[in-house]
Amino acid sequence: MGFENSLWHDTADDDFAPRPPLPGDIEADVAIVGAGYTGLWTAYYLQALNRRLRIAVVEREIAGFGASGRNGGWCSALFPPTSSGIARRHGRDAAVAVRRAMHESLVEVGRVARAEGIEAHYARGGTVSLARNDAQLIRASRLVEEEQSLTGNAERLELLSKQDAQAVAHATRVLGATYTPHCAVVHPLKLVRGLAGCVEARGVSIFEGTTALALNHGAVVTDRGTVRAEVVVRATEGYTASLRGQRRRLVPLYSLMIATEPLPAEAWAQIGLARRETFADLRHMRIYGQRTADDRLAFGGRGAPYHFSSRTRPDFDRNGRVHAALREVLVDLFPVVREHRITHEWGGALGVPRDWHASVGLDRRRGLAWAGGYVGDGVATSNLAGRTLAQLIAGEPGEITRLPWVGHRSRAWEPEPLRWLGVNGGRLLLTHADRAEARSGKPARSARAFARMIGY
Ligand SMILES: Cc1cc2nc3c(=O)[nH]c(=O)nc-3n(C[C@H](O)[C@H](O)[C@H](O)COP(=O)(O)OP(=O)(O)OC[C@H]3O[C@@H](n4cnc5c(N)ncnc54)[C@H](O)[C@@H]3O)c2cc1C
Repeated sequence: MGFENSLWHDTADDDFAPRPPLPGDIEADVAIVGAGYTGLWTAYYLQALNRRLRIAVVEREIAGFGASGRNGGWCSALFPPTSSGIARRHGRDAAVAVRRAMHESLVEVGRVARAEGIEAHYARGGTVSLARNDAQLIRASRLVEEEQSLTGNAERLELLSKQDAQAVAHATRVLGATYTPHCAVVHPLKLVRGLAGCVEARGVSIFEGTTALALNHGAVVTDRGTVRAEVVVRATEGYTASLRGQRRRLVPLYSLMIATEPLPAEAWAQIGLARRETFADLRHMRIYGQRTADDRLAFGGRGAPYHFSSRTRPDFDRNGRVHAALREVLVDLFPVVREHRITHEWGGALGVPRDWHASVGLDRRRGLAWAGGYVGDGVATSNLAGRTLAQLIAGEPGEITRLPWVGHRSRAWEPEPLRWLGVNGGRLLLTHADRAEARSGKPARSARAFARMIGY
């Protein structure tokens, strides 16, 4: 549902013919579960380090079916937790190292796409985050101060005046903004499909229509047979809870998106985004948008309900109330959108760890590796994850294998019904905080306390 209904699916120039499933029991050196960015970047860099490795990827649906094929296409340097969250837990040097590694990652995605001939519409225009009420303006200047005091000028995060912000995005009620050059836009599905084709052409085996049931020491047990391998990589992000023994590891949160028809030049004169800057405002309940290569607006936001017991289902990708609200927010930002058709509505699940701290690691003794928990910031982060996992598995450590997210273990989520109450309670709290801030212009203390509580 979310997959076939997306703008990306309609514009990927792909027949999505499924690859054959696992033919029965096989042996490999590395078995990867999940053919999204995480699994495929891992395969890509592993293969580059050692061409002789036998790498098998098993995918329940088809490559790119998950969040990697449906996302907002911000190839950004955002990383969960933020610099202040990392500095609090691991120190300032660690926060600077993560910023640098993320900057490299978003450049690396563009470099590989070019080098491998993947036409992913990569364009680096940066991100403008608008402040549209006083509380958001206070937050904008605090964010810039905080980032500068922690990581110096690494982020090049600037505070824009009202005039400068409006020059980038001609949105309503703009009071100012932050701007960072560290973001590119991509066509997410073309990127992941291109990557799958690329690793396959170099000898990686991708088995689609193959469901992993359990990840054991030295083996992935699937519905089509068993892949025996020295190392098994879990790259299932928002779907992880469906694996045996992993139910409380990552919560699947749904993020939903809409897209407009291609907009004419007159509409763009009223919108701006001339360099295809990604855009958001500084509300707590995240929204995100991009100007696509074919001149549409693709726009998304969180706020869809969490489903009991961490279930994921195709019908959760659509939510009339949330999709309608997204349209309202987009029209509120750029009123000219009202005159144009919304052509696509879709969504997908992203993965959230209990402490909102992404992680990557290898437990050599148990032969299990993993990466994820990107909390909706996985486009560039998964590239860093893939490079890191490849180095860990190949036993060739380097600077990136010393980053503080390597080997980080998030604690398990609470059992139900506490999990359901906590996640949906947090969602409502942030929505109310945004409404209160829009009314009063005063920063909502509850939202700040919530962010602190989850260590963000
Ligand atoms: C609507 C939306 C918008 C987003 N916008 C952005 C954005 O703009 N920028 C950004 O940085 N991030 C964004 N994200 C997050 C980003 O897309 C993800 O963090 C990233 O794609 C995760 O990649 P992945 O490979 O780890 O997971 P996925 O792409 O979800 O891949 C996991 C794969 O595992 C497969 N799988 C699951 N279970 C099994 C099993 N048992 N056996 C075999 N295979 C299995 C799935 O079918 C899937 O293909 C967004 C996410 C969503 C949903």
